Amino acid sequence: MEIKVNKEKCTGCKICVDVCPVGAISTDDNGKAQIDQRCTFCTLCVKECPENAIEIIGEEKKKVVDLSGYKGIWFFAEQKHGKLSHVSYELCGISLKLAQTLKQEVCGVIFGSNCDQMAQELFNRGAQKVYIVEDQSLDEFRQDIYVCLMTELIKKYKPNIVLASATMVGRSFVPQVAARLKTGLTADCTDLAIDPETKLLLQIRPTYGGNLMAKIICENHRPQMATIRPKAVEEARFIGDHDGVIVKENFSSFNAVCRVDLVSKEAVEQTIDLQEAEIIVSGGRGLGEGKNFDMIRKLAQLLGGAVGASRAAVDSGWIPYPHQVGQTGKTVKPKIYIACGISGAIQHLAGMSTSDYIIAINKDPDAPIFKVANLGIVGDIFEVIPKLIQKLEAKK
Ligand SMILES: Cc1cc2nc3c(=O)[nH]c(=O)nc-3n(C[C@H](O)[C@H](O)[C@H](O)COP(=O)(O)OP(=O)(O)OC[C@H]3O[C@@H](n4cnc5c(N)ncnc54)[C@H](O)[C@@H]3O)c2cc1C
Repeated sequence: MEIKVNKEKCTGCKICVDVCPVGAISTDDNGKAQIDQRCTFCTLCVKECPENAIEIIGEEKKKVVDLSGYKGIWFFAEQKHGKLSHVSYELCGISLKLAQTLKQEVCGVIFGSNCDQMAQELFNRGAQKVYIVEDQSLDEFRQDIYVCLMTELIKKYKPNIVLASATMVGRSFVPQVAARLKTGLTADCTDLAIDPETKLLLQIRPTYGGNLMAKIICENHRPQMATIRPKAVEEARFIGDHDGVIVKENFSSFNAVCRVDLVSKEAVEQTIDLQEAEIIVSGGRGLGEGKNFDMIRKLAQLLGGAVGASRAAVDSGWIPYPHQVGQTGKTVKPKIYIACGISGAIQHLAGMSTSDYIIAINKDPDAPIFKVANLGIVGDIFEVIPKLIQKLEAKK
C-alpha cells in the first residue's frame, strides 16, 4: 500500500500538513503536499483532504466480514495451582463494565483441572457463563496448546470481545491467537470502554512516550481483542452466591499439538511480587548509586513491602528490570507507594499514580511527584529514610 498526493488536485491548503501526527507531510517548491518516509499509513490525511487529493494506491480490497454473529464479552481467566489469579477478577470487572453499555453476556474461559470451583468464583463476581477445557496437562501454561484451544473456542462460539491480562501468560499466547484469527489486538491497555454510538470497543493505552492516550478500535474484524495491564482496572466485587452456565469442551477433541515437553520444574527464589504487594518502597536516581538501594530494601522489609524502582535506577544497573515501575515496567496499585528520590516523570506516574496512598520524599519542592503525592516530604532521602528505619526498628 502506498499513499500518494495527486498534484493536480492538491490546492496547497496544508490541512494535511496540520493533521499528520508524525510530521511526514510538507509542501514542495510548488506549494503542493508531499509525503516522506515517516508516513505510518494512518490515512488521517486521506480522510481530511477536502479535495480528495491524497490517494491510497494498491490498497487491499477489504474483505466484507459478517460481524453480526459475534456476541459476548470473553475474558481469559488465569489460574495457578487451581486458584484464580487476581487479574482474572480484574478482567471480570472490566468485562462487566463493558456489558453495561453493550448488553452482552460476560463469559470467562478457564484451562486446567478441577475448574468448577473457579467457575463458581467467577459467577459469584458477576460472570454469566464460563467455558472450561479441563485436563491436568493444562494446569501449567503451555503456549502451543493454549493458542490452539483459545483459537478453536473463538471460532466455534464467535465472541464479540476477547480480553486477557498483559501478564507473561497473556502477552505470550494471545497475540498468536489474534494472528490466527486474522483480527487485531491492542496490547497493554490501561482502560477499555464502549463507544456509545458505534458500540465498538475503545481500547485505551498510552502512546508517544506516555504523552498521549490512544483510543484504538477494530472496525472490520472480530473478535475485538485486547490485553489489559494488571492493576490498571478494578476487580469485580464479590456479589454473593450466584448461578451461571458452565460449558465444558472435551480436551481430546481439539487435537492440540505441543512442541514443548515439560521435563521438570524447579522452584526459583520468590521475592514479593510487586503487583501483589500492598506496600512498595521505590528508589530512583536520587539514590546516587546501587549500594544505596540497601536502605530502600531495609525500609521495605520493615514495612513488609516490596522494592520498586524508576527506569533511571534500572538503566543505571542498580537494580534488575523486574523491579521497574512505570510505562515500560510494571503497573502497580499498592495501598502505600513510597517514592524515594524519584522525580515523577509521566512514564513513572503511568505505573503507580492509582496507588491508594502515595508518599514522596524528594529534596526538590517542585518535583512533579508531589503533584500526585498524598504526603510529600521535602528533604534529603539520606536523612529521612534512616530516620524512618530507626523509628520502625524501635517500634519492633
Ligand atoms: C518511552 C519511555 C518509557 C519510559 N518508561 C519508564 C518507566 O517505565 N518507568 C520509569 O520510572 N521511567 C520511565 N521512563 C523514563 C522517565 O522519563 C524518567 O527519565 C525516569 O522516570 C526518571 O527516573 P528518576 O525519577 O529516578 O530520575 P530523575 O528524573 O533524575 O529524578 C531524580 C530525583 O531525585 C531527586 N533527588 C536527588 N537527590 C536526592 C536526595 N538526596 N534526596 C531526595 N531527593 C533527591 C531529584 O530532586 C529528582 O527529582 C521512560 C521514558 C521513555 C522515553
